[in-house]
Amino acid sequence: MDNPQIADRLDAFASLLELGEANPYTTRAYRRAAETIRSAPLPVGQLVRSGRARELRGIGPGIEARLRELVETGAIAELAELERELAPDVVGLGHYLGLGAKRSVELARTLGVRTSDELREAAAAGRLRTVPGIGPKTEARLLEALGHEGEPRSRRGLLLSRAWELVGGVATALGGEAAGDVRRWRDSCERLAVVCAAPDPHFVLARFAKLPQIVAVVEEGERRAVGVTVDGVPVEVVASEPERFGTALIRATGSPEYVAELEPLPDASHEEAVYRALDLPWCPPELREQPFQGEPPALVEPKDIRGDLHCHTTWSDGRASVEDMARAAQERGYDYLAICDHTPAVGAVRGLSDDDVRRQAEEIAAANEPLAPFRVLPGIECDILADGRLDLPDDVLSELEWVQASVHGGQRMPRGELTKRVEEALRNPYVHCLSHPKGRYINRRPENALDLERVFEVALEEGVALEVNGLPDRLDLRGEHVREALRAGVQIVCSTDAHSVRGLGNMALAVATARRGWATAAHVVNTRPLRAILGGRRAAR
Ligand SMILES: [Zn+2]
Ligand SMILES: [Zn+2]
Repeated sequence: MDNPQIADRLDAFASLLELGEANPYTTRAYRRAAETIRSAPLPVGQLVRSGRARELRGIGPGIEARLRELVETGAIAELAELERELAPDVVGLGHYLGLGAKRSVELARTLGVRTSDELREAAAAGRLRTVPGIGPKTEARLLEALGHEGEPRSRRGLLLSRAWELVGGVATALGGEAAGDVRRWRDSCERLAVVCAAPDPHFVLARFAKLPQIVAVVEEGERRAVGVTVDGVPVEVVASEPERFGTALIRATGSPEYVAELEPLPDASHEEAVYRALDLPWCPPELREQPFQGEPPALVEPKDIRGDLHCHTTWSDGRASVEDMARAAQERGYDYLAICDHTPAVGAVRGLSDDDVRRQAEEIAAANEPLAPFRVLPGIECDILADGRLDLPDDVLSELEWVQASVHGGQRMPRGELTKRVEEALRNPYVHCLSHPKGRYINRRPENALDLERVFEVALEEGVALEVNGLPDRLDLRGEHVREALRAGVQIVCSTDAHSVRGLGNMALAVATARRGWATAAHVVNTRPLRAILGGRRAAR
């Protein structure tokens, strides 16, 4: 059993514990352990066998015992028991149809059904209305939803990172390609699709139905199926004839508006051939949100990135030391990494005082010696106070090599006030970059009222860059705003805001978001060599 397989089983266990209304701390512990195992650099199966599993972060005696059982027997007995009791496929189907987990379990018990097929049969036989609490209206709605065909969409958008994990996992298992919203790197994904080139579609569809991520198949055609996860998220698989694979991939990648403009699509085995037949240049998926005309620009690529300019360490709320973050950045092939921990005004977590900043600079200088020519840059993520002043005095900021300015508290200020506050901060001569300018949390907190047009003007005058923050729930600036910033002549920085070594991997999300805003390497400050970064913010002009 490899790490992803072990992690999937723990995740499945966590989902079932959730359905069974177990202690939420237990559920979370299993999810965290799954995440640790997924990203562990060593084969976890071997660690477990040699009794060393607890050296991994977040693995206590309880989880260790389950891991031993899983590695030694290939299964977790309690997981199988929970599966029998809780009918996860009915629950997954229920979620997909808009029912809560408890309601679905009740439904399964009352009707004596254990699989989604049995639920469909019961529904078709008119038995839904015999369940207490299901009136004629709900029954009609469920029957309608069960009979629904067409493009499946998740009721709630999935964060891009989670969507990639799910769709990427299914694509790898089936030897296909990820398509749908993830391939266009949308910040919140509703259409999740995988396309496979399959001479024999039955083989692919049968494997799809058996994947651990998929608890129930809700639609099945000759070359297409839709399955749902235990959370009710629909995933579509298209098993295309190999000679039509390129055409199927374009259709499944979308957006529907973009594809509609290209139709009728000729059949071809790969995408480039379809475009060639249409006499069009190939279009990067990030630019397929709207109908596209003309020659696509040479978008920035992950390999163009030379360093990361925003990350945290154990000095504030990060989980790794300066040295660990630096080594991880060096291993990614970067030339530099700026350490930007928080300042005291951030509130909820520890922030660095003047004195801390100077002590951290010493630690950074020491870390730099063995790592040369790689460079760790002493930096800061400095809070912008309510009146626009910065949370550290200028003499401290002047000693740092990279200064991010950030609004954390007070995102709901009215437009005029918030814009003045940010403008004031950007006028500070030591600020290099404005962090997560719109302050949103995807699907949780809307964007703030900041007047970006005004901010672009000031940023341009002052030579300050704007961040494209790669945290999966931020992705801020988003693609449309990146495009406006670039049109205004403002430079951007693609950052991860990593709080762990693994977090540095979110650069892919930041770069893809910049690509959605038409950014080329020349627009992105951290595609430049170290000396351009050290040249201070005038270099960003
Ligand atoms: Zn921040
Ligand atoms: Zn940060």
